[in-house]
Amino acid sequence: MSEFLLKPRICFGQDALAILNDLPASHVLLVTDQAMVKFGLTECVTQVLHQRGITFQIWDDVKADPDIATLVRGMKLMDANYPDVVIALGGGSVIDAAKAVIFALAQTRVDTTRQRPCFVAIPTTSGTGSEVTAFSVVKAHTEKLVLVDPSLLPDIAILAPSLVASVPPTITADTGMDVLCHALEAYVSRHASDFSDALAEKVVQQVFLHLPLCWRNGDNLQAREKMHNASCMAGMAFTNASLGITHSLAHALGGVFHVPHGRANALLMADVVAWNADYQGQCDTEAARKYARLAHLLELPADSTRQGVASLLVAIQALKDEMVMPAGIRDTGVDSAEFEQRLPEMVAQALRDSCTPTNPRVPDANALTELYRRAWAGNPEQGY
Ligand code: NAD
Repeated sequence: MSEFLLKPRICFGQDALAILNDLPASHVLLVTDQAMVKFGLTECVTQVLHQRGITFQIWDDVKADPDIATLVRGMKLMDANYPDVVIALGGGSVIDAAKAVIFALAQTRVDTTRQRPCFVAIPTTSGTGSEVTAFSVVKAHTEKLVLVDPSLLPDIAILAPSLVASVPPTITADTGMDVLCHALEAYVSRHASDFSDALAEKVVQQVFLHLPLCWRNGDNLQAREKMHNASCMAGMAFTNASLGITHSLAHALGGVFHVPHGRANALLMADVVAWNADYQGQCDTEAARKYARLAHLLELPADSTRQGVASLLVAIQALKDEMVMPAGIRDTGVDSAEFEQRLPEMVAQALRDSCTPTNPRVPDANALTELYRRAWAGNPEQGY
């Protein structure tokens, strides 16, 4: 049996935060990070809570790529405060930390009379789609582990484009390429369906149209809204269809060398598309045909499957270039000798990553090593 899970309730648009006025709550835990406090974004929640006379506590020291120590701090705080509503306001790191803490407390709680709190996710980046996914990425030492469980899904997702306006261009580029990667990987996943395909196709079109606008002018709220919605739709697609080896390779690269998640995906994506399509060979795989269909939807040359795949690869490269993103891993400050030394460790991590089994083409260690080496150099010289 196949299924497509639809949760949470999604509130979107310029006035999406108005839902906070109607939220039943008596004691709230607001999970966030220092950047949200610095940019004054937390006030959009705290002002409403003040006005409504709802007591709240703030946990504001979640770090990017939350690790076990962060989760332990969060568990202590949440257990002591006993909130009936948890609001996560931040990027994927903040939302994932809140998800993992709620999940871990539910698993370990001795007092079974305590209810799981209502969980509200308010993303402030347009990237991970974590507000609608059953995934949480947690760092254990140098390995990023992907927790997957339906109980990780928030109850309410609030997509307020005004909260993304302060994201600087570099993070806009990184997170935007994450959205594109989610759509591309869900589209060719072994678990893709009509439902996830429809979402992925829409996302790819919206990213190519609106991401450069957001990067050039962060205050363009119409473009921000399109990217915010695209990020959420990509999350809906991949929480159902799962992902592929761009993510497996990116998780390991991010875990070992601290490359931001979206940037790691951007560095690896084109090489994985070419490999999945068997671009250097017959270019006649099911994935190749689906990539060519995306090129057609983007109104790029796609008279043959090979031409369509080439067009998509060129378009990905052009999007990265337009946003002045690093061409290869070597341009991100990673030391070349250390990269070579840690390659086997990263390849082993990527092979056992939970995103690997749904990749359309089955990789072995040699294939993943080759993909890392290509991404190290950057791909323009491959002449798509
Ligand atoms: P992030 O949450 O790590 O944030 C990146 C930086 O942007 C941080 O410094 C943050 O403070 C800052 N920031 C966030 N919002 C801002 C705003 N409005 N204005 C200014 N600065 C802002 O980045 P992310 O890409 O959103 O999340 C990445 C994390 O999510 C990684 O750990 C990744 O592995 C994980 N992830 C999770 C899922 C999932 O489904 N759960 C999917 C993909 C990735």
